[in-house]
Amino acid sequence: MSIIGIDLGTSNTLACVFQDGKAVLIPNKEGGYLTKSAVSVMEDGTIITGRAAKERLLTHPDRTAASYKVFMGTEREICLGQQYFKPEELSAFVLRQIKQDAEEFLQEPVEEAVISVPAYFNDNQRCATKLAAQLAGLKVSRLINEPSAAAVYYRWSDSAAEDGKLMIVDFGGGTLDVSIVDCFDNIIEILCIAGDNHLGGDDIDAAIARYFCEKNHLCREALTPEEGAVLMRQAENAKAALSESGAEKGLMKLQAGEKEYELSLDREQLAKLCEPVFKRVEKVLRRALENKKAAKGIRRVVLVGGSSKMPVFHDFLEKLMSARPVIAAEPDKIVALGAGVCAGIKERREELQDVVMTDVCPFSLGVATYNSQIDREPHMAVLIPRSSMLPVSHSSRFYTLHDGQEYLKFEFYQGEDYFVAGNLKLGELQVRVPRGTAGSQWAEVVFTYDIDGILHVSVESSGGDKRETVILNPNLHLSEEEMDKAMERINRIRLTTEAHRDQQLFVQALSLYEELGDDRRAELGRGLEIYCGARDTQDAINMRRAEEYLSELVERFQRELQEDPFEQLRGLGLEMDGEEFADE
Ligand code: ADP
Ligand code: MG
Repeated sequence: MSIIGIDLGTSNTLACVFQDGKAVLIPNKEGGYLTKSAVSVMEDGTIITGRAAKERLLTHPDRTAASYKVFMGTEREICLGQQYFKPEELSAFVLRQIKQDAEEFLQEPVEEAVISVPAYFNDNQRCATKLAAQLAGLKVSRLINEPSAAAVYYRWSDSAAEDGKLMIVDFGGGTLDVSIVDCFDNIIEILCIAGDNHLGGDDIDAAIARYFCEKNHLCREALTPEEGAVLMRQAENAKAALSESGAEKGLMKLQAGEKEYELSLDREQLAKLCEPVFKRVEKVLRRALENKKAAKGIRRVVLVGGSSKMPVFHDFLEKLMSARPVIAAEPDKIVALGAGVCAGIKERREELQDVVMTDVCPFSLGVATYNSQIDREPHMAVLIPRSSMLPVSHSSRFYTLHDGQEYLKFEFYQGEDYFVAGNLKLGELQVRVPRGTAGSQWAEVVFTYDIDGILHVSVESSGGDKRETVILNPNLHLSEEEMDKAMERINRIRLTTEAHRDQQLFVQALSLYEELGDDRRAELGRGLEIYCGARDTQDAINMRRAEEYLSELVERFQRELQEDPFEQLRGLGLEMDGEEFADE
């Protein structure tokens, strides 16, 4: 049985499998590779995911969720229709879809996956991701940091690459991850990681939407949820349009109430709107480079993630670093491809036998301690410093502060602040110690940070027998019974694809549109326009004609996409000169 690799992104989810010595992306039922990380509850209570769900964000924002990954590992519940869902449950729906698609593609059951997470995901977020997979019926054989996955693929797919250090910048929809990687032979060593879990293309869309309102004297808060969703989509489209080479303007239109509003966004304005977002990117880059030992001698900066397609971003980086970054070949698929390679490593594929990847922990982990009896504000006693290589285990002994003290209480934290108040609390534990004078009794705390980036803690007191393993974030560690209950709740809700056949064609066409070149795009665009026009008139004959036309186009283009794009170059006597294609 194959293990699959999954990139569970804020905006898009992709799956990949290692087959015949290659990482092969798994197509979804829409005929593409990127499944939108969106969930919508239909009126009959069934659930749809992917692009069809993302489309419903415009018409049924109260029943649809996207970008919920930012709430992973929190208590936040999201209301769709009348039901409340936890972020990990919403993720589970998308994962269930991915599992189905993979099973169809591989023609065998799929039960195990390597899943990538933002390097900067904390303990709660990692546990929530594991839980989401479990709820979808997938065992997580490994959580891998997204930039590490990207690095693995970037390195592994380019056998001619020189040894040396890379800085990989993954700028997606909701998160930014930066990692510095050292490559030597088949060894890929992650040296340091920095990131921001709440920074990405979504923030740029929001800035554009605010600007649209300001220019049109609209109050953002006064828009209906539907209008708000359309505005965000218009903003995203205008942003993407300005990524096309040669494009000067991104047009936005919004029908709000009785009136239609417009805005034409140019590159200069987009760059201005991006400034505050890019300033935050700069902060993260600086933090990564602050690790002087890791940063010394970086040879190349590689951009991955959908938002790194933006020319204004390249300009910003070039100005900042006085060097032109390299854009990875498939910026929005590379993490999934890397997860696929890691799945292959997990399966012990022969072709990958000598590939070794080491990873590091992104945060420091420690215990709250007091310096003296009168010390009021506890600070971090770090047990595992950030950037330690995984897996790692460290222990430390803590002594009683008072005479006759009966207990030692430990609070566990993650983060870089000196005072624990500024860090994330992961859990706490109290152990009994024999009575004695201050400083005579102690407890030993052992931290083990596993390869998935999840912390295990055990504490043993001088009393001897008090050894306890702590379960951190109990909400995310379900007992068997609770797990069964949660599974049942999820499984009761049916995923549909069949019930919305007409929408399926539309969805396929939309997803194809993204992948086509300009000429074919224009043709498919006309088909979509006719289709939408017919749908709006509700005329059955018109609708049937439009459907037929669109499905013809979809079939033809899908067929053509399968063809090898390099075929046309062969036999032309062209010399493919590696030097000229090098990206430096
Ligand atoms: P994630 O890993 O968060 O799922 P992706 O790496 O797939 O995200 O990137 C999604 C983000 O990239 C979205 O914010 C989307 O608007 C943005 N994006 C995708 N294509 C383009 C483009 N051509 N120009 C600008 N932004 C883009
Ligand atoms: Mg991503």
